[in-house]
Amino acid sequence: MSDSPTVAIVGSGPIGSAYARVILESTPDARVVMFEAGPQLTAVPGESVRNIADPDEKARAREMSQGPQSGAFRESLGIPAGVVVEGMFTARQGTHLLDFGGPGSAHAPTFPAAAAATNVGGQGAHWTCAIPRPAFSEQVGFIEDAEWEELITTAEGLLHAQSAAFADSPIGAAIRSLLDEEFGAELPAGYGVGTLPVAGDPQPDGSMVWAGANTVLGPLIEEGSRESVRFTLRDLTLVRRIEHEGGVVTGVTIEDLRTKEVSFFAADVVVVAADAFRSPQLLWASGIRPRALGRYLTEHHVVITTVALDEERMGALISQDEFERELARRAQNAADPVASVNRIPFSEPDHPFSLQVMYAENPPFALDPSHPASGNRWGYVNMGYGVRKHPRIEDGVTFDDAELDYRGFPNMTIEYALTDAEQPELDEAHERVRRAGAALGTFVAEPRLLPNGSSLHYMGTMRMGPADDGTSVADPWSRVWGYDNLVVGGNALIPTANTMNPTLMSVAIAVRGARRVVEQFSRAREDQVVR
Ligand code: FAD
Repeated sequence: MSDSPTVAIVGSGPIGSAYARVILESTPDARVVMFEAGPQLTAVPGESVRNIADPDEKARAREMSQGPQSGAFRESLGIPAGVVVEGMFTARQGTHLLDFGGPGSAHAPTFPAAAAATNVGGQGAHWTCAIPRPAFSEQVGFIEDAEWEELITTAEGLLHAQSAAFADSPIGAAIRSLLDEEFGAELPAGYGVGTLPVAGDPQPDGSMVWAGANTVLGPLIEEGSRESVRFTLRDLTLVRRIEHEGGVVTGVTIEDLRTKEVSFFAADVVVVAADAFRSPQLLWASGIRPRALGRYLTEHHVVITTVALDEERMGALISQDEFERELARRAQNAADPVASVNRIPFSEPDHPFSLQVMYAENPPFALDPSHPASGNRWGYVNMGYGVRKHPRIEDGVTFDDAELDYRGFPNMTIEYALTDAEQPELDEAHERVRRAGAALGTFVAEPRLLPNGSSLHYMGTMRMGPADDGTSVADPWSRVWGYDNLVVGGNALIPTANTMNPTLMSVAIAVRGARRVVEQFSRAREDQVVR
């Protein structure tokens, strides 16, 4: 180890940021260099684009994140834009499909909505900020409850968790009351209808400043702080390869995407947090190929609908005054369509689902003006039941050394199928979403299962495990089996079947991994002193 330990982090999303923060705050002489393939979108690195009030500025930031499918920005860098094929799936704003249909595109006909974001802050610059805690079998079984509780609490602190966002919204309260009437008696104590925990800071005007990687980085990006002088973020810098010899990682080979210059960066520890597809791809491209790499892919499937809130039912619960105040509050932050967030969490054995209910002024699609619920003055809810996918070795991504993708990496093929293991819960989710919709108002979109990949929460492809038995990629401290100084991070580590938004869980796992890196540094220093 060098005198001042150096850590290279691949990817600038919430997980890479959590590693940077914990390591730098706990190791006073460590240096962290974070490499990010995409551009910086906002003056504050990694900020949520949802906080950008100007619609044109917001659209530009989203386009800059959309990798091969974005237009003007990519072209200005001399990177050819991908071919957009008519009829193909479109990605959520700020993201780009992996299987985009052009030259160098991944192959994912059975997981067509798989997408990524390529920008400082990663998907964390575009996310919805829902951070429910995993519960029951969603938790990692081999981390003890007391430690897990502390890790999750630390992760909530890093993400500025807010359990009562929009709690004073009378419409939000009315939605909870109607859902409770419908489902309350069936749900166990502590797992009933409630507000959805989110990441961000409530503002005096009732709006939210949403959290991004900047929130997690905290003091690292505050000018003049103790940590900021030891932290470097290099945007538009692609990590091409993890260099290693005899089970020891020596650093990374990087390409500056502005100058095309390729160089080696030496590091004592490398942390790969480059999302659930591109992280295993980078390991594969570097010749690090544990048997479980890319396998056991899961996501949570989503059965969604949109409902126009019922005037009579809402009116019975909300006074005219309260309604007027709600409209005034919504108008203050017209750029942010979400005005209240509610949920029913996962619980076992009887409610193995997460229901997420977002209240907004408008539906998320253009509603035909002739539709009877068009222009509903009470607004709409978009809601979805998260349904778990049970991990199977057959589901996953493979990499082809003989066919390179648009970035010059071994191209990906994703194979994935829903099976009889999921079908009963998918059917039940359809029934439940119908009941929830009927309790709240009139359907303006038929309940439907979104195409595979739509959750954007991809898990399992670098799963952690208690033993090196071929069914996991990383040890319980997120180190790749056989490599003490190669750490992996992100939703890909999650080995369980999950229904909830996974970022909080992945930050908790990252905190554990980062603390182990810190311990390794202090042990190495003690060894040097002894010698
Ligand atoms: P990412 O945020 O994906 O960041 C990875 C970064 O690595 C990217 O910026 C990428 O460009 C970079 N990278 C990749 N390869 C390389 C390379 N070779 N060299 C250098 N850099 C590289 N999660 C929730 O928990 N709750 C939500 O409500 C929620 N809503 C979402 C809504 C949307 C629209 C989206 C897009 C995502 C949402 N998510 C949500 C998912 C959440 O954003 C991710 O779980 C989280 O961002 C994962 O963090 P990460 O750091 O592991 O990866």
